[in-house]
Amino acid sequence: MKRMGRASTKPELLIRRELHRRGLRFRINHPALPGRPDIVFTRARLAVFVDGCFWHRCPQHGVMPKNNREWWEAKLQRNVERDREKDTALSALGWQVRHFWEHEDPAAVASEIDQTWRQLLTTPKPDSRSTQDV
Ligand SMILES: [Zn+2]
Repeated sequence: MKRMGRASTKPELLIRRELHRRGLRFRINHPALPGRPDIVFTRARLAVFVDGCFWHRCPQHGVMPKNNREWWEAKLQRNVERDREKDTALSALGWQVRHFWEHEDPAAVASEIDQTWRQLLTTPKPDSRSTQDV
């Protein structure tokens, strides 16, 4: 698992291409953030993960291998738990986290990311509010 998921997968590449086409700029596999999110928008503090259907147990395609079933069950369950831990760590640092499945339509995913990104940039941060408003 350590090796897997590090290299960019094809769905992720398609999503990145869509985002580029829309003029969005981002960092990939940000090493300084919990879980090394696949796509990161630093100014909006938005972290995006494109989760593999098998490794992250997609409800539609997350099939359990027949051999060594118990071992896989435990392993994949741990992945899912680790995903939630990463999310918690990221939001504790003030980041918004979005997860998408690799089976989702790249254009639709890019639209949603685009929308979220714009929203985050136009939403005033709590610390930027003037003291008069409090
Ligand atoms: Zn899936």
